Amino acid sequence: MVALAPRVHLAAMQTGTIHLVGAGPGDPDLLTLRAARLIENARLIVHDGLVDPAILALARPGARLISVAKQRSKHTLPQEDINALLVREAQAGRDVVRLKGGDPFVFGRGGEEMEAAKAYGVRVEVVPGISAANGAAAASGIALTHRDSASIVSFVAGQCKGLSDQDWAGLAGKGRTLVIYMGVKTAPQIAEKLMADGLAPSMPVAVIENACRPEMRVLRGPLAALPDLVEAEAVQSPALIIIGEVTARENAALEQIAAEVAA
Ligand code: SAH
Repeated sequence: MVALAPRVHLAAMQTGTIHLVGAGPGDPDLLTLRAARLIENARLIVHDGLVDPAILALARPGARLISVAKQRSKHTLPQEDINALLVREAQAGRDVVRLKGGDPFVFGRGGEEMEAAKAYGVRVEVVPGISAANGAAAASGIALTHRDSASIVSFVAGQCKGLSDQDWAGLAGKGRTLVIYMGVKTAPQIAEKLMADGLAPSMPVAVIENACRPEMRVLRGPLAALPDLVEAEAVQSPALIIIGEVTARENAALEQIAAEVAA
């Protein structure tokens, strides 16, 4: 037993750390300083498809970049394999920067990766990022809360197992803002579900495509027209749907400021 102790100690010393890093919604300027430093110094970056190429370009020459890009309902690498990859690299003594769009703990499966790492005794550091909701809100001039319009804000996933079984009752409506991630493909079911829950067909909605990127689009309309809006404008992922009165506030000044900040 005594003879084993140094080897155990040595093994612990040699294990790398997994950094679960939020890359924000797209613009490299929206990285945290800690995320930027980790990316610049990384030898190994394992990243999602959502991470903007401009952010990956911050990696130093010779850094190993592994994409584990997922597409809706088509995973190029199953989550278990991603977990295993991260743990294997860390156990081989390498620090891993696991780079995710937005924030690692908002619909990013960061929780699963953290748990997998911990199960194998691998150190994990979580670096928060600006989630798409915050980025899209800032870039489009839509305040998620506003003393006159909303004091509750909820984030939901619009594409998940059993969407129709999800209980969203009370999440949208007067005084509330509902932010829907991954809702482009299921926009018709989302609109139907919310109206079945009693939401007015006239409730204002905004769709923000490619928030915080040069090609950003902000589309607005009433809830009942959401499916047509998404189809007619050929909205592509990544896009967020925001539902609530905050999306229709006449506040040109705020939009002006947001545009200036983004420029
Ligand atoms: N962890 C991420 C969310 C991952 S889920 C975060 O915190 O933002 C992926 C979904 O996020 C996309 O389907 C889309 O709904 C949203 N999303 C991510 N980046 C976006 C962007 N730049 N603009 C609009 N929506 C975005």
